[in-house]
Amino acid sequence: MADKETEKLEEEIKKMLKDAKIAFSNQTNDSSEKEPAKLTEKKQAREKVLKTIREFNLNPKEVKEHLDKYVIRQDEAKKVLSVAICDHYNHVRACLKDKSLNNLEYTKHNVILLGPTGVGKTYLMRCISKLIGVPFVKADATKFSETGYVGHDVEDLVRDLVKVADNDTSLAKFGIVYIDEIDKIAARGQRGGKDVSGRGVQVNLLKMMEETDVSLFSQTDMIGQMQAVMEMQTGKGKVEKTINTRHILFIVSGAFQGLDEMVGKRINRSQIGFADSKETDTKINYLKQAQTTDLVDYGFEPEFIGRLPVRVVCEELTSQDLEEIMLSSEGSILKQYTRDMKGYNIAVKIKKDAITEIAQKAYLEKTGARGLATVLEKVFRDFKFELPSLGIKEMLISKDSINDSEKAIADFIENSQEEIRNHQNEDIQAFASSFFQKHAIKLTFSKTAFDAINKECIKNRQSASSYLKNNFLNIEYGIKLVCEKTEKSNFTITGSFVKNPEKELSSKIAKLSK
Ligand code: ADP
Repeated sequence: MADKETEKLEEEIKKMLKDAKIAFSNQTNDSSEKEPAKLTEKKQAREKVLKTIREFNLNPKEVKEHLDKYVIRQDEAKKVLSVAICDHYNHVRACLKDKSLNNLEYTKHNVILLGPTGVGKTYLMRCISKLIGVPFVKADATKFSETGYVGHDVEDLVRDLVKVADNDTSLAKFGIVYIDEIDKIAARGQRGGKDVSGRGVQVNLLKMMEETDVSLFSQTDMIGQMQAVMEMQTGKGKVEKTINTRHILFIVSGAFQGLDEMVGKRINRSQIGFADSKETDTKINYLKQAQTTDLVDYGFEPEFIGRLPVRVVCEELTSQDLEEIMLSSEGSILKQYTRDMKGYNIAVKIKKDAITEIAQKAYLEKTGARGLATVLEKVFRDFKFELPSLGIKEMLISKDSINDSEKAIADFIENSQEEIRNHQNEDIQAFASSFFQKHAIKLTFSKTAFDAINKECIKNRQSASSYLKNNFLNIEYGIKLVCEKTEKSNFTITGSFVKNPEKELSSKIAKLSK
């Protein structure tokens, strides 16, 4: 097994060296050739972002206003993050102008976000990274191991940032790294028997969060290392081998289960029965009062917490908040579902009572706004499957439609008779015209034929075109035969023909043969 892997690796390296040779010889030969358009586009996009950073001039209120369009509630988090972001990029701007500032003592505005899952912690940071245009990566702290042998090395995060930036270190060095589930690397070995290697991961992380040079190639990335050597040998110029993390902003987050209780006990040791208190408000309030000592007691190194000076708690979302997300967030997942239906030419209208119902169901999932995706997927599943083939142009979703999709589909059909018939008519005409092109026979569908097709299609939730394809193709020869015998170039399809085309044709042919 191991031999096979080595062989595979050797093969890959050989191929890579070959490719690299070809690439470099092409580069030297074609230096006069124009850059491909895509490359120029990328360069322009990069220049735009770098210019935004060099001339960073947003103020915290502008950042918050941007966040308000996407993120519902979390006002405190928005405020704190807006200030942290502006401070961070103002500092970056100043350092770019005056390199000597890099030597000054400076505490980066790395952030620790506390709060339950699905309430917008990652979303806030994604929105910020998009606003500025800097690359963003997210990973779970649980995937890292101290040595990097078993899991991933924390430095992989920075290398991922470079990948996201299309291998452009000049952009990656201003990016944002987001590490979720940071509470899982709290080294609570002495108390709860948890994995003490969490401490090692914290130590590795804290170096990176402050400032360090991270190699662009991990120790296990043989191909990457060979590539670097190759680039140097071919004299491609100065090849960057490391990236400095000085201007990378680090955000860590987690639900920090149990921390609220610890804080509660510290604040009010005499309070009896705190552990039984499951009130969300109480929990969040205690989290808000968490101090460095609480986080240290929770299992973090004081130095680690020290590198995360911006601390903010995100609130739990109520079902009204979930309604608000659907109605007014620019990134609302409901908009995505409406767009999906639009892809089938179906306009979605949704009543207020349906929004409330979806929000309440999502709230019961206890996964924050993520519950919305779960509920909407279930609600729209049948609609997406059944409705597009029928030609419905509009659907009005009410509370009842959420709870009984079968009935809702029947109602949509009932209310869209005209559109459905028009759609079927188009399909029937298209079928007749392709039949004419193939056989030079004009098919006429009588009113009863049309009604029969309409009924069958609605019963089977099928389009008229697929109905005709399935039921009429085998009888093409029969129709041709009848027309030849009667020397006619047209054929009328009646209602009884639609119900049993084979029988109808056989009796016609039998009559003609007599
Ligand atoms: P977490 O708090 O676990 O990091 P996310 O930020 O990843 O959760 O939220 C998941 C998704 O739910 C987001 O991509 C976003 O669409 C939606 N969402 C979560 N919270 C909010 C919010 N407060 N306002 C608007 N949308 C939200």
